[in-house]
Amino acid sequence: ELGLINGRLVDMNENVVTMEDRGHQFGDGVYEVTKVYNGKCFALRPHLERLYQSLRAIRIPATYTFEELVQFHEALIKESGIKEGAIYLQITRGAAPRVHPFPEQVVPCLTMSIRPSGPVKQELRDNGVNIILIPDERWLRCDIKSLNLLSNVLGKQQAKEAGCYEAVMVRGDYVTEGTSSNFFVVKDGVIWTHPATNLILKGITRTIVLERLAKELDLTILEKAFDVSFVKGASEAFLTGTSTEIMPVVSIDGKMVNAGIVGPITRKLQDAYTQLINDECGR
Ligand code: PLP
Repeated sequence: ELGLINGRLVDMNENVVTMEDRGHQFGDGVYEVTKVYNGKCFALRPHLERLYQSLRAIRIPATYTFEELVQFHEALIKESGIKEGAIYLQITRGAAPRVHPFPEQVVPCLTMSIRPSGPVKQELRDNGVNIILIPDERWLRCDIKSLNLLSNVLGKQQAKEAGCYEAVMVRGDYVTEGTSSNFFVVKDGVIWTHPATNLILKGITRTIVLERLAKELDLTILEKAFDVSFVKGASEAFLTGTSTEIMPVVSIDGKMVNAGIVGPITRKLQDAYTQLINDECGR
């Protein structure tokens, strides 16, 4: 497995990050994950645009240009020879003796890695997954793709221990998103998802569904918050995410959605998303 630190290719097992990096000590950084299909990074531009937004939000200076970041992604793909995989990128505020405020003259630290990853399991794509609902205990800037993922980690572990694929979070009366995915439901032919406020991450896959696929397929989609009882009465539900792609949900807290059958709107979106990947990445 291949890594890259501040633009230099390294073996992932090499010790390259300093102990006092603020990513370790404070979670003081941001990240992105992109998928590689057929040796090409899918939707890299919007991912990098979101990265710059996250950096701005936590006031880490952008020390690499867009073109450089594109080159680093291409170098990792080329040098690793990986055709189907995922690239992880993080930028921390950098290393300095541990104090809470931003140290003066601290230099941001960029690390990246590439790993092979197979296609989403066909069985899950075809038959859907089970999810649980859990309280959303995160901070109020979920729109920033920050390294502080403790709630997400605990939630995903809870899902795993319940034999579920994902935990979807509920803040007050409203359903927000999954621990590493956005959440959608279909009711009376209309697709609903939480608006892109500070309470969710504005997923790239979510945006593709909203701005491209739903339009292409002439589907009605609403960015409007909904509650748990609304979810329980939904005719379809699905998750979206870079790694998750479009994943049908067939049971919520042990209760079947649409008698456990994947619905037609979810199916159409799944097919259109695969088609888009194939078109963009020349598969
Ligand atoms: N919501 C959260 C909390 C996430 O961590 C992620 C991605 O991992 C998503 C949503 C989906 O975002 P994207 O489609 O950009 O991968």
